Amino acid sequence: MQVTSNAHTHTSLCDGRDTPATMAQAAYQLGFKSLGFSGHSFCPVDGYGMNAERLAQYCREVLVLKHEYQGRMAIYLGLELDSMSELPVAGQFEYLIGSVHNLQTPEGRVYPVDAAPADTAAAIAEFGGAAAYVQAYFAAVDEMLNSRPVDICGHFDLICKYNAGGRFFAEDSPEYKKSAAGVLRRHCQKGKKNRPVFEINSGGMCRGYLTRPYPDYWLWEILRDEESWVMVNSDAHAAADLAFQLAELTARAQAFGLKVVTIEEVIG
Ligand SMILES: [Zn+2]
Ligand SMILES: [Zn+2]
Repeated sequence: MQVTSNAHTHTSLCDGRDTPATMAQAAYQLGFKSLGFSGHSFCPVDGYGMNAERLAQYCREVLVLKHEYQGRMAIYLGLELDSMSELPVAGQFEYLIGSVHNLQTPEGRVYPVDAAPADTAAAIAEFGGAAAYVQAYFAAVDEMLNSRPVDICGHFDLICKYNAGGRFFAEDSPEYKKSAAGVLRRHCQKGKKNRPVFEINSGGMCRGYLTRPYPDYWLWEILRDEESWVMVNSDAHAAADLAFQLAELTARAQAFGLKVVTIEEVIG
């Protein structure tokens, strides 16, 4: 299978390794028809979002590439919008990926979801147990999708990044399944207005944390039942990772009966 697109792409202007130009060149060499950039929004609680100056440079460089590749590969200016970031100016970006990377405890402390296993352990302790932590995560995803105009829901179950082997919580428990499935179904529901596209994200596999994508395969059933649109993205932080598992996951999703779209269809 020929992979033709990726819409979840980071660069050295946030926490990626390579410049926008290097990422675009790699995508073109892979035969992509389109590439969407989705640098991290500035977020006061983490260190990798783009501040105003970086963001301006990011927009400038991506728009130059858009022009440079015109007629050969479509380039889109997107943003991965953290749930704790301010909303960007309307129309500034061609699409938004909405992501929960941080959770706030009832006491007001913020813990990153995907920075280190020690943070997960500390957050679980402060939330008063794994069940409460899981519930808080999916409540944050729910709230984000309720309140923000996101086109794509990023890595739906990122909370599992450090949970291989059930290290912190049981993903097959009824409580876990209820939290995850409930929020997913509410937002991908057939007939719902402005429902986001859910990405199938290979980032956790690429970096060796997991052997399955976000969201996990059992959640695909809901996406299929609701006839939700999905897109397959690598969440690449380096040019070498741009197409990681995209062909395999796209083939698997299509064989499973999911409606796989690319960024062109999302933007419409
Ligand atoms: Zn993310
Ligand atoms: Zn990302």
